[in-house]
Amino acid sequence: MNLADILRQRIAADGPLRLDHWMAACNAAYYAAADPLGRDFTTAPEISQMFGELIGGWIGDLWLRAGRPPLNLVELGPGRGTLLADALRVLGRLPGWQAAAGLHLVETSPALIAVQRQRLAGWPAQWHQGTDTLPADRPLIIIANEFFDALPIRQRRGGQELHVGWGDAGFAPIWLPAAGPDAEWSEGSEGVMADLAGRLAAQGGAALIIDYGHAGGGGVDSLQAVHRGQRVSPFDHPGRHDLTAHVNFAALSRVAAAAGLACHGPVAQGGFLGQLGIGPRAEALKRGRPPATAGAITAALLRLTAPQQMGALFQVLGLAAPGWPAPAGFAMEPA
Ligand code: SAH
Repeated sequence: MNLADILRQRIAADGPLRLDHWMAACNAAYYAAADPLGRDFTTAPEISQMFGELIGGWIGDLWLRAGRPPLNLVELGPGRGTLLADALRVLGRLPGWQAAAGLHLVETSPALIAVQRQRLAGWPAQWHQGTDTLPADRPLIIIANEFFDALPIRQRRGGQELHVGWGDAGFAPIWLPAAGPDAEWSEGSEGVMADLAGRLAAQGGAALIIDYGHAGGGGVDSLQAVHRGQRVSPFDHPGRHDLTAHVNFAALSRVAAAAGLACHGPVAQGGFLGQLGIGPRAEALKRGRPPATAGAITAALLRLTAPQQMGALFQVLGLAAPGWPAPAGFAMEPA
């Protein structure tokens, strides 16, 4: 039975589905089916090797300043494994890194796990379905790029909450009475954050969260669906496109701070990458290259950093456990 039939039966039996339940079912099917990156959307690590390399530098710098402790490097939703492959190329050159660091990937999509396995062949990686099985014995350095935006949200407006029902024209939004102020929120994201923050506070370490989002005050309707680069209705063809929402960094920071973590940012991605040295890195990559290659590197640099492109829309939040050094890249906060 396909997902549309399953959801139709659920609605027939139990009534309209709350938006977060709809979104969770749609995204699980979407990511399980195939590798969507490059077809429906692209992400910073897929745009240029510079992105993962600079994050590798960010991780290495933090690990060195923390005194080179044994730790576990964790990535949430690693996609094609590109960010990690690029970061590990940098980290692998640091004396002692390979002996000190375990590698843990949190990923639910069988299709993407297969891609990640291939990409990270040679590295001793372990896979997890959720954060609950991550090892508890060592500090964690956690990376999440475009992970939280795929987690389920709820929306309430005008004393009603958004659900999805089934009518003559197919699946359709239905608003059902629900008391409370207008809001868009993600219990899923806050739950993952609470788990990670508790672990960081107990085990030590740091986290880097990068996503399309806002530092609070971001509106109450950011749900969107993209199919082959085009915006489509989030209620058509469940599982055919990914559903995302802007990440509320204020909400994530509140959860992290409550667990005792130091919060840095959010700052704009352009400024963050600038502080990590993306300018000189681009120049180094361009040196001695033919004009077409050099031009492509400049274009990728602009795509990642220019305010009209990803530079301002994407935000970066750094979290550090008590006793851990402040992470690099946040000197010019707030965004
Ligand atoms: N970080 C990658 C991929 C972003 S796409 C990049 O920047 O290119 C979102 C990723 O999160 C995919 O790998 C997807 O399979 C994964 N994902 C989505 N929902 C998830 C969930 N609930 N648990 C674990 N992984 C999830």
